[in-house]
Amino acid sequence: MKARDPIADLRRIAFLLERANEATYRVRAFRSAAKTLAALPSAEVAERARAGTLTELSGVGDVTARCVAESLAGEEPVYLRRLLATEGSDLDAEATALRTALRGDCHTHSDWSDGGSPMEEMALAAVELGHEYVVLTDHSPRLTVARGLTADRLRRQLDHVQTVNEALPEGFRILTGIEVDILADGSLDQDEKLLARLDVVVGSVHSGLNDERSKMTRRMLTAIANPHLDVLGHCTGRMVSSRPAAVTGPGDRGHRARTRKESDFDADAVFAACAEHDVAVEINSRPERQDPPKRLIRRALEAGCRFAINTDAHAPGQLDWQRFGCERAARCGVPADRVINTWSAEQLVDWTRRRS
Ligand SMILES: [Zn+2]
Ligand SMILES: [Zn+2]
Repeated sequence: MKARDPIADLRRIAFLLERANEATYRVRAFRSAAKTLAALPSAEVAERARAGTLTELSGVGDVTARCVAESLAGEEPVYLRRLLATEGSDLDAEATALRTALRGDCHTHSDWSDGGSPMEEMALAAVELGHEYVVLTDHSPRLTVARGLTADRLRRQLDHVQTVNEALPEGFRILTGIEVDILADGSLDQDEKLLARLDVVVGSVHSGLNDERSKMTRRMLTAIANPHLDVLGHCTGRMVSSRPAAVTGPGDRGHRARTRKESDFDADAVFAACAEHDVAVEINSRPERQDPPKRLIRRALEAGCRFAINTDAHAPGQLDWQRFGCERAARCGVPADRVINTWSAEQLVDWTRRRS
C-alpha cells in the first residue's frame, strides 16, 4: 500500500480533537509529535518507524508513534478512523442511547466481599434504575484485603442469591458471578467446578500490576484462553485520580484509589485474543479508573471485541455510574450491538454457557 503523509494525519487528529473540545494535553501530544517529525528528513522518519525508535524523539509517545507507523504502512491510523467515525454525531445523544440500551450491570460487589451493602439493597437500587439484572461479582480468595470469598463462602452465597431472588420483584434477578483474580501464571483464583456453575465470570488483575510487558501479556492471554472467563475486568489497572473516602465508601478497600499508571502489556495481542475467544472487554465506569483508556477502547473495537459497560459498584448509588462508561464508549464509537449488557438476562446467560 502507498504510504500516507504521517504528519498530515497527526495534524488532522489534533484538529479533530480540538474541535471536539478534548483535553489540551491530549491535543498537544499530536501537535508536538507533528512538529518534531516535520523537522526531520522523511527518510529518517521512515527508518525510525521501521526500527521502532520514534519514541526516542522528544515529543513522540507510544500513541503518536503508532499513528505514524500506520500512516507509513498506507493505513488510515486507527485513532483517526475512530475519530472520523464519531465526527458530527451528537455524543450526548449517543451516550444516552447507549445508557438506555443497557439492561443490566455485569460487575458489582456486596458486603460479602468489600462492598458496603447487602446484595438485597444493591438489587433494589438496580430495580429503581430500570435494570433487569445485576451480576453479583464479589472477589476471589487471594484478594484477602477485600475479603475474597473462599469456595465454601461462594457456595453459601449462591444459595443465598437464590433465596433473595425469590423475594425480588418479578422480571428482575441477581445473576451469580465472581470477580476472579487473574493469578501470576494466568490461572483463575477459584475452583473450576464453581466457576462453571456461575452465570458470569469477570477476571481482573489485582496484583503484580508492574509485571514486565511480556510476563503481563502472557498472564492475560492465559486467562483469556480459559473457557470460564467471560469478561476481562479493568484491563490496565490504572487509577487516574484519588477519590476521597466519602466517594469510594468505607468498605471499598479493594478499590481505594491512588493514582497508578497503566500496566504494560501487548494490547493488540490481548484484544485479538479477546475477539478470538469471545471474551468481552470491560469498560469500567468508576471515575477513578476510567479503564481502559479511550485509545485502547478504540483498538479493542477495531479488533472486533465485545464490551461490557460496568460500574464495579461497591454501594447502591454507584450503580448509577454507568453513564460515565457510556460517555467514553460513545466517544470511541462503540455500537450498542457490541455491548453484552444490552442483552436480556437470558441472552447473557445463553452466551456465557455456550462459551464455557
Ligand atoms: Zn477489580
Ligand atoms: Zn470490582
